[in-house]
Amino acid sequence: GRNNPGYFPARLGQPLQQGRYCIVRKLGWGQYSSVWLAKDRGEDRFVALKILTCDATKALSSDENQRSDEQRMLEKIAAAESSHRGFSHSLAYFGSFDFNGPHGLHRCIVTEVLGYSIDYLRKLNDTDRRVAPSIVKRVVKQVLLGLEYLHNVCGIVHTDLKHDNILFRPLDLAGVISRELFGTPSITYDCGTEVNPPVVPVVSQGLPLSTDATVREQDLVAVIADVGHSHWKNRHFQELVQPDALRAPEVILGHLWGPPADIWNLGCLVAELLIGFWLFEPNKTDLWGYEEDHLARMTEALDLHFETTMLANSVHRDKYFKADGSFAHFTKHEEPTWPLRKLLQSFSELGDDTPRAEEFLRRCLKLAPDKRATATELINDPWLAIA
Ligand code: ATP
Ligand code: MG
Ligand code: MG
Repeated sequence: GRNNPGYFPARLGQPLQQGRYCIVRKLGWGQYSSVWLAKDRGEDRFVALKILTCDATKALSSDENQRSDEQRMLEKIAAAESSHRGFSHSLAYFGSFDFNGPHGLHRCIVTEVLGYSIDYLRKLNDTDRRVAPSIVKRVVKQVLLGLEYLHNVCGIVHTDLKHDNILFRPLDLAGVISRELFGTPSITYDCGTEVNPPVVPVVSQGLPLSTDATVREQDLVAVIADVGHSHWKNRHFQELVQPDALRAPEVILGHLWGPPADIWNLGCLVAELLIGFWLFEPNKTDLWGYEEDHLARMTEALDLHFETTMLANSVHRDKYFKADGSFAHFTKHEEPTWPLRKLLQSFSELGDDTPRAEEFLRRCLKLAPDKRATATELINDPWLAIA
């Protein structure tokens, strides 16, 4: 039914796939799935089972499929080139199977178990949403390695890079899980709501990196997860991609997009981690709309303008621009958008490193996608080189 997308009602201890998997704990949930920690008795290891809702499972076989094929992408990621330097920064995929539950058929995707997301780092402190620049650099470098692999080897554009889709791989998974499970009550979950009541505080859905909640920097291995909204470089499932506030200008404008859209997205996230709030927070007004406001804020924060060649190749140009290249409706913000340099100087903890960080961000935030640096180029950026 419309209100029941058909989450699988899992029981703790429940066997699946002829008893091979035993459900241990709930890890999280999303619009299309609930995700469970399970013991894989066949391989004697813990795995994550992403059990798609019946609706999401049905959509996989429908003809006018607007959703990305997560399973095929995970297969490609797992098989493409395991010796690549970015391989370990993608989610490891172990296989999938279909099974019947009380609401209908479910696709179940089996992957490695990950821990906290970047959101956890952001919420360590009650009021400060910033992450220390030294940690940001480590994480960004790893995400870039992961993107290099997705873009250059797998032919995948992620298009959904946000804080809860970048997760950390726990070093001592078995140890963490056995501590965590001690005393876990046995409960039935039948929809995408609560996660298991945790024994130790669990922030942001996931397993803790360590029980004393101290994050040791050298332990962080960042993994790009959730290719559920991703696209093949040469086959898009839809054209309006990315979370609104992180959307690249070429996507808003209806210009060709591809891997550079992920780089824009990453630039916005990095700035956010450094300053503690969204880089772009567009608003519609009585005179102009959300998208035009967003585009205007980009030009203001970066002190750049859109080149006529880019606009000429944009399907939506006339919605937002006049023939002479000026904005169609936007005139002036009551509170002007702060320039990037001023934002970093005023709100980040970068100190002397500010100019280098700004330069890195500017390479990510070029308005024209073909001018933007690639993941491979950014891996060697001077800002990331200095510890
Ligand atoms: P969305 O609405 O974000 O598209 P979704 O149904 O596609 O959701 P995911 O985002 O893949 O599902 O997973 C939902 C949540 O489950 C994640 O935010 C994360 O907290 C948790 N999770 C997913 N995969 C894993 C994993 N391999 N290990 C640990 N936790 C995971
Ligand atoms: Mg997600
Ligand atoms: Mg998803």
